[in-house]
Amino acid sequence: MSEAIAITNVKVFDGNALTAERTVVIENGVISEAMTAERTVSGQHGALLPGLIDSHVHLLSLADLEHGTRWGVTTMLDMGSPAMTLTDSLRHRQGLADIRGSGNTASAPGGIQTTKMGMPASSAVTGPADADRFVAERVLEGADYIKVIVEDPRKMGTAALDVATIAALVKAAHQAGLKVIAHVTTLVALMNATNAGVDILTHAPVDADVDDDMARSLATRGIVSVPTLTMMRAVASLAHHLPTHGADINYAHAQATTSAFYRAGVTILAGTDANASPASPAPIPHGESLHDELRLLVEVGLTPVEALRSATVVPAAFFGFTDRGIIETGRRADLLLVEGDPTHDIAATRAIRGIWVAGVQVR
Ligand SMILES: [Zn+2]
Repeated sequence: MSEAIAITNVKVFDGNALTAERTVVIENGVISEAMTAERTVSGQHGALLPGLIDSHVHLLSLADLEHGTRWGVTTMLDMGSPAMTLTDSLRHRQGLADIRGSGNTASAPGGIQTTKMGMPASSAVTGPADADRFVAERVLEGADYIKVIVEDPRKMGTAALDVATIAALVKAAHQAGLKVIAHVTTLVALMNATNAGVDILTHAPVDADVDDDMARSLATRGIVSVPTLTMMRAVASLAHHLPTHGADINYAHAQATTSAFYRAGVTILAGTDANASPASPAPIPHGESLHDELRLLVEVGLTPVEALRSATVVPAAFFGFTDRGIIETGRRADLLLVEGDPTHDIAATRAIRGIWVAGVQVR
């Protein structure tokens, strides 16, 4: 039994709004029914949020995990690692974010993932007949979902997976009960990924807009978007350095697409592509970047409440994390205490007064 902590006189984000001031008690790592505790923390003038979920990061070291946790990111979804053993070595650390991972990303032979970004040669998928092998390897090492790099074959030639291979990866993943996340930064890649039946699109095209008709059709098919506006903004500003895009790339396309997704009712999850990899197109700081992402989501049309939902209750429900994402009895005490009212001013998420990870206060 650990010492119980009561956060008193605090307005609680219940997934839709802030409640009246109340007391939230943490005991043994979870939210307790108790009304009193050995220790009290004043929550006055503050708002208590569920710990934030970043639905797109890359973890290479304990420092990455520490930086993210310091900003209230208590769950991190790794979307591509050179080795699942690396992801596993970072799991289950007291006082640090809880993680899920894909392990290696599937990409085409000759793509930059294997030639420049540190993925092993075995992560290249040679064709539809090779899809079962790739997925079986991920299942064996305990991947939580499958990540596939989808590029535009007109720009990348044979270094882009074709639709038949992506579809075979989706089929094998779904047979294993795993969702498929597709990396798409161009409109053609996005169409190929959705035609192949992927579940989640991550990034947003920076070469053209998804229009309202297409957005509505994706919403009908239950496609989920993790637009990583933080990364798309960074990539667009560096466009001339990148081999995969021409001079046509523009952050405004990513904004317009995310806005169309929002209007059409596509589920949007907050994710940053946070990484400290020297091989990445742009370094994105773990943790702080999620607060940028929330603001960028508000800029394209989400209300502050919807932005908060995109980093808490919505990803928890979508990925089946039934133990978190909302503040209620029995859930993990992953909590972020901030000053002010982030349901009206999203920037208030940065005014951090306290962070708990499974009941352990870390800030
Ligand atoms: Zn990424």
